[in-house]
Order: sequence, then structure tokens, then C-alpha cells
Amino acid sequence: MKKEEKILQTYFGYETFRPGQKETIEYIINLKNTLAVMPTGGGKSLCYQIPGLSMDGTAIIISPLISLMKDQVDALVSLGIPATYINSSLTSSEQQNRINDMANGRYKFIYVAPERFESGSFVHTLRHMKISLVAFDEAHCISQWGHDFRPSYRSIVPNLKQLSNIPVFVALTATATEEVITDIKNLLHISDVVNTGFKRDNLAFHVIKGKDKKSYIRAFLEEHSEESGIIYVATRKQADTLYELISRYGISVNKYHAGMSETDRKESQASFIRDEKNLMVATNAFGMGIDKSNVRFVIHYAMPMNIESYYQEAGRAGRDGEASDCILLFSPQDVQLQKFLIEQSMMDDSEKLKEYHKLQEMVNYCHTHTCLQSYILHYFNDRISEHTACGRCSNCVERQEKTDITEEAQKILSCVKRMNERFGVSMTAKV
Ligand code: ADP
Repeated sequence: MKKEEKILQTYFGYETFRPGQKETIEYIINLKNTLAVMPTGGGKSLCYQIPGLSMDGTAIIISPLISLMKDQVDALVSLGIPATYINSSLTSSEQQNRINDMANGRYKFIYVAPERFESGSFVHTLRHMKISLVAFDEAHCISQWGHDFRPSYRSIVPNLKQLSNIPVFVALTATATEEVITDIKNLLHISDVVNTGFKRDNLAFHVIKGKDKKSYIRAFLEEHSEESGIIYVATRKQADTLYELISRYGISVNKYHAGMSETDRKESQASFIRDEKNLMVATNAFGMGIDKSNVRFVIHYAMPMNIESYYQEAGRAGRDGEASDCILLFSPQDVQLQKFLIEQSMMDDSEKLKEYHKLQEMVNYCHTHTCLQSYILHYFNDRISEHTACGRCSNCVERQEKTDITEEAQKILSCVKRMNERFGVSMTAKV
């Protein structure tokens, strides 16, 4: 590891490895297929960049995030490392130029989207090259149990197996349930897993119930006007409405959803990243690959469909390690909306059933009285991080006293039963 430590210091200017980095790098340079599960901001990129520099040949990085590729490549090039990306944002002649340079071994790192492997000429070129490693960034997308499943990601594997010298594989993700981890391991023949857990010590989780969401947002934004934040909504319509409302409050805000034109979306994203307008109202179409480290709060205006999506979206807060808030505004209607979205989806019955289970876990999160951070870690079966209460979330700091109302609840349920379950809330209350 002496060589790799030297690379860390000379190329990247860092003194020591972060948790999980050293182990992952060690496995890779010993040619063992490895899965690294580390939290957002944990330093996953160095886990393949350092072996890529230390080993002979070219490293192929597969990432579903086209928007991030350029930033990653620019960062490497600025360190004097030959790197490039090949994706659909380039003209076809530029793509071909880069493929030719790649064939001549000009690059140490090449970033591509999973779809690139559908191109015969790309795979053909790879066959004649010396590949040091293949990295699967955002590896949960490869699993059909992952919340961002990409079929094209999965179909890469047979193509890679055609290579004459099968290189070492490294998969990286910040969100993976036990099921997803098993799936990734089987698909990529991974024997070694480095899992540092998901815990994010700088995030404070809050669930707000029974409050008028609009008034809450207004008061919150007035108090935090200097800070950068994202407000996630459930639908495009909600995004439009909330965007207009916030603008009417006189607060400058960006908007992002899949119904907008590509130009508008790009502009909006750029304005947010450059802090021209530091607030974003968006659907879940926004965020994958947004490398903005100073997001101080992520508010969910409506409850998302599952904990995986929630933790990934909320986790966009505080990538710089500074204290940040993740606030979920819950109302019972959110559950109805999510059920509707599951019903409308193209999933088959067994997949729908799975989604309903996940939704129930999300609803339970909104109602739990235990530490919210611990709830999430438990959901991901994170046995590494200590499950002690975080001391920061809304449940940990809650000062309300608990009262036992078991008897009252029993009386109400008994009343409902004796009315043959035929009446609603108001009639039951009158009785
Ligand atoms: P992730 O992909 O896990 O979200 P990144 O790879 O983008 O995280 O790394 C997050 C930040 O941490 C980057 O700015 C990176 O340069 C920095 N970083 C990574 N490893 C180290 C290290 N060993 N020491 C100090 N900073 C590091």
C-alpha cells in the first residue's frame, strides 16, 4: 500500500485515508472484485481512482450520472491525470475521436454511461485494450430491488464477460439494503464487501406532523433565507404550485421537474449550483448527480415512496460535512397519493406488494417515537454504525411528555366495532 499512500498524498494532497478507503483499495489492487458501501461524501471516488493510477492500463468508470462525468473528469485533468468521458452530450465525431484515443491507450480513466455498452464498436475497442478495472458507480442502479433500477446497467455484465482479460470489478453505492447488496454481489461475482455504514453525523432528521405545510415553509424560508436548500415535492403540479407560492412570498427560487424543457431545466440547475438562487423546488427528477456540497436543508413537502428514496434525497444535504437539516412534512393524504402512484405504475402484482411494504416502512418512519437516524440505519440493516440515539433528530430533542391512552383507544375501537364499522370519524366521535 506504500505506492497507493504516496498517490493519495502527491496527486490528491490528502494525508490519510478515510474509513473504508484503504480496505477497498487493497482488495482492488489484489484483483478481488469488491463492493464498497459508504455514505454520501465518504470519498468513494478515490477508492477506484487510486487503484486506477497505481495499476497498468485504463480504468473504465460506469456512471448513470452524465451530469457528473464532466466535473469528475475536469477534476482529474486539473491534477494532470489523462481522463475523459464519452457520452451522448458529445457529437458523434467527438465520441469517435475519444474512442480512437482510448484505443491508443491515451487515457487512465474513461467515464461512460451504462448505455455505451450497447454499442458494438465500443465493446470491440475495449476487447483490444488493457483495462485496469471497471468501476460501477451508484451500483444500486444495477439491482432490480434498487430504487433507481436501470436495465441497461444490468445488461453490461454479459458484454464485460466477453473481454479477453476480465478486469477487476469495483461497485460503489451509498444506499443499499441487504437485498440489493446480495444482488450486486451475485451479478458482479463479488466476494469482498467493505461496508462503513450509512450514518451521517452532520444530518438532523425531523418529521413535522399536523402543521399547515405552506405556513411552515414560509416561516422556515424567512428564517433561513441565506442558506441553500432543496424542497422536494411529489408531483410536477405540486412543484409548479409551490414554486409560484414561494415566488409570491418574494423569495427567489428555482424549479425543476421532468415536464420542463431541457434548456429550462439546465438553467435552473446551473442557477442553483452557482448559488445565484440558492433555493430549489423539485420533483425527484432533480438531484441524481448534483454535486453541490453546501446544501443546508432538504425539505420533503410530501412523504416519498420509500426510505431508500428518502435517504438518498435527504442525503443531498450537508455533503461538506457541516450541520444540516432533513425535514419531512407529513400529512395522511401523502399516503393516499403514494398508493395511487403505485397502483398507476407498470409493476406487476408481486412488485406492487413489495412497494406497499416499503411504503409502510416509510409511514412507520413518520410515526415512530424512536430516534429517526436509528430507524433509517436499522432499515438498511446497518449493523456497523452504533444504534445509539443521535441526539439531534426531532424525536431525540422532543420534550413532550408521553401519556398512556391505551384504555381510551380500546374504548374507541370497541365503539367502532359495535357500530358494525359502518360509520366515519364524526359519528364515532359523537357517540
Ligand atoms: P462520495 O462519492 O462518496 O459522495 P466523493 O468521492 O465525492 O464522495 O468525496 C467527497 C469529498 O471528500 C471530495 O471533496 C473528496 O476530495 C474528499 N475526500 C475523499 N477522500 C478524502 C481523504 N482521504 N481525505 C480528505 N478528503 C477526502
